[in-house]
Amino acid sequence: MSESQDLETGNFSSWLSDTRTALSNDAEMDVPCGECNACCRSSYFIHIKPDEFDTVSHIPDELLFPAPGLPEGNVLMGYDEKGHCPMLKDGACSIYDHRPATCRSYDCRIFPATGIQISGKDKILISQQVQRWKFNLTEAEEIKEHKAVQKAASFLTHKSTLFPPDELPGNPTQLAIMAIKVHDLFLDQENEAVDDSKMVDAVITAHGKFDR
Ligand code: SF4
Ligand code: SF4
Repeated sequence: MSESQDLETGNFSSWLSDTRTALSNDAEMDVPCGECNACCRSSYFIHIKPDEFDTVSHIPDELLFPAPGLPEGNVLMGYDEKGHCPMLKDGACSIYDHRPATCRSYDCRIFPATGIQISGKDKILISQQVQRWKFNLTEAEEIKEHKAVQKAASFLTHKSTLFPPDELPGNPTQLAIMAIKVHDLFLDQENEAVDDSKMVDAVITAHGKFDR
């Protein structure tokens, strides 16, 4: 398959619903990655939670270090000089059945869904993959939902200075996930007339409720 060939993601509404269910249950995403391993080669620090005993037991201690700003037991795994995860061997995850929850839940389709860009030389491989995904947007409902997700992402990006410190994630992946979580607020056209500061409060409340 050509690297530039489009990849069908299917129906947007189904994808959105599955993604929100997975996010609310901290569950695995079923991404048709094929032979792609771009996110394993894109200089990501992989977060591993304290209860991921099985995963930690399959990673050499020297590759893990405490996650800054998080409670004891949370660790990060870094990457090598090429930006590759140290568990990537011969192009495949060497601990696939034991991989971290972070890897199981990662879905690069959140970027074309939200319109949030990932930039930087170390993210070129993912950017290329992101451009290949094409959502099926034919039904009125899925067009409406897609617009709402994109409006949510745009609001979080362009009104970021209105949010209190620490309410907005600092990286594009978490920002895209937040837009997916709070997109319902942007489905209602009446909310477009709502004052920005009230919308900020509504977003914070909706985000908190989703994660509860
Ligand atoms: S970049 Fe996307 S398609 Fe490629 S391995 Fe990661 S999640 Fe799968
Ligand atoms: S642990 Fe496996 S799936 Fe996760 S980034 Fe490393 S190689 Fe990829």
